[in-house]
Amino acid sequence: MTGLALAFRRNQNPAPGDDILVLEEGPQPGGTLRTLREEGLVLEAGPNTLRTTPAAERLVSDLDLGDDVLVADPMAPRWIVRDGRARSVVPGLPAVLTSAISPGGKLRVLKEAFVAPRPASLDDEPAHDFFARRFGDEFARWAAGPLVSGVWADDPATISARSAFPKLWEAEARSGSVLRDLLKAPKAPPPRFRARTISFRNGLSTLAERLVERSQREGVRIELNAEVAAVEGPFEAGSEGAAWRIHIADGTVYPADTLVSTLDAQSLSTHLGTRLPRSASRLGAIAYSRLAVVLQAFHTEREDAAPRGFGVLIPRGEGFRSLGVLYLSSLFPSRVPGGLALTTSFFGGALDPSLPDLTESGLLALAEAEVRRLHPALGPRTHGRVLKWPAALPRLPLGHHATLTLLDEDLAEVNAGGERPRLVVTGSWRDGLGLGERIARAEELAPAL
Ligand SMILES: Cc1cc2nc3c(=O)[nH]c(=O)nc-3n(C[C@H](O)[C@H](O)[C@H](O)COP(=O)(O)OP(=O)(O)OC[C@H]3O[C@@H](n4cnc5c(N)ncnc54)[C@H](O)[C@@H]3O)c2cc1C
Repeated sequence: MTGLALAFRRNQNPAPGDDILVLEEGPQPGGTLRTLREEGLVLEAGPNTLRTTPAAERLVSDLDLGDDVLVADPMAPRWIVRDGRARSVVPGLPAVLTSAISPGGKLRVLKEAFVAPRPASLDDEPAHDFFARRFGDEFARWAAGPLVSGVWADDPATISARSAFPKLWEAEARSGSVLRDLLKAPKAPPPRFRARTISFRNGLSTLAERLVERSQREGVRIELNAEVAAVEGPFEAGSEGAAWRIHIADGTVYPADTLVSTLDAQSLSTHLGTRLPRSASRLGAIAYSRLAVVLQAFHTEREDAAPRGFGVLIPRGEGFRSLGVLYLSSLFPSRVPGGLALTTSFFGGALDPSLPDLTESGLLALAEAEVRRLHPALGPRTHGRVLKWPAALPRLPLGHHATLTLLDEDLAEVNAGGERPRLVVTGSWRDGLGLGERIARAEELAPAL
């Protein structure tokens, strides 16, 4: 998504001599965007929703996709399983009414405003410790924990709070308390942007497909099945030819003056590590979580049998193996045939890493049993699909920010003295995981190349 959005944006305002090429090792564009359209169903094996940023809204509009947008109900309840029962959390102020946190636990959340700020010597800590310190153990266990598993598929006891939750980390640094920082918001804020949670009539891959169609029509080259096998360069400014030579697995070589990497951290280290001496070994050590996604459709004879809301997060220790389940038919009902409920179950992640090794039939059986446990009135299952992601999401270790600082120093050296940057590096492990953030990054980078 980042590579495609960047190519599109740059091509709208090209510099003289621009010739833009996107290389993708897979047979289809869009990276983790993976819409399956089968048996009249629109199913998502990768991301299910796009939480918009201003840049994402602009992209959707510039691609004339406005009429295809489906907007999820902003008040759709999220559910958290506690003591075997799913408890609703309605976004915004009503969230304080949830029974996922006890009255004592809620009081402790409010006391955050009076908790002493972290000592200056603490430059990072695990997300669980951060939330427990600021908001109390109960909040850390029943709210933040499942969120970490649901968004990052990571372990709350190891993921870096500073890197995974930078806004909260900075709020504490700024105001000594996250809540006090929120309350200190400027008196006359600029007109507020209203983020939406969206998809498209034909699924999220629509975005990648439209980007490819438009960009190719306007002269961008997009090569699929083009795995970058090696990168030579940068060659000295003033030497004959381009700064880089990109070798594709089939033997093709592409010259380039500016190279933008949207690779995962490990591949970046493999292909460009010798040019990034300070950060390469730390980048290469960033682990990725494995996930299995199980997509299911069920008959629902009675309307009230279908799951309602955004989806459910399931904390560890509740006797489930699903990290969470999304309720697609409730999120985007207009694209689901009547009488069907669609669910997306996530398995694996850092806390259950071998689960994706289970056979497809094993995963299908597990997903069905766990969805039925939560929604016993569902009718027969009519469709079941399993997709495995061997390297789904980056796991941000403690001290990740220091790795990024070293990378900044490496990049400053590679790019020193040139009029244009030779090497630009972006990725969900560096500057934002969500699709809205990936698109924002692309828009920001386009004029800077
Ligand atoms: C199962 C799952 C569910 C998710 N759900 C959501 C969600 O609901 N909402 C949300 O906002 N985000 C979600 N995310 C996260 C989001 O999808 C990703 O963070 C985002 O798509 C990453 O985009 P990217 O452009 O940075 O990288 P990628 O999409 O990873 O793109 C990198 C591209 O580089 C290609 N590539 C790699 N190596 C080479 C090589 N050597 N040569 C050529 N090409 C190469 C890859 O094939 C890939 O297409 C989810 C992720 C997963 C895996």
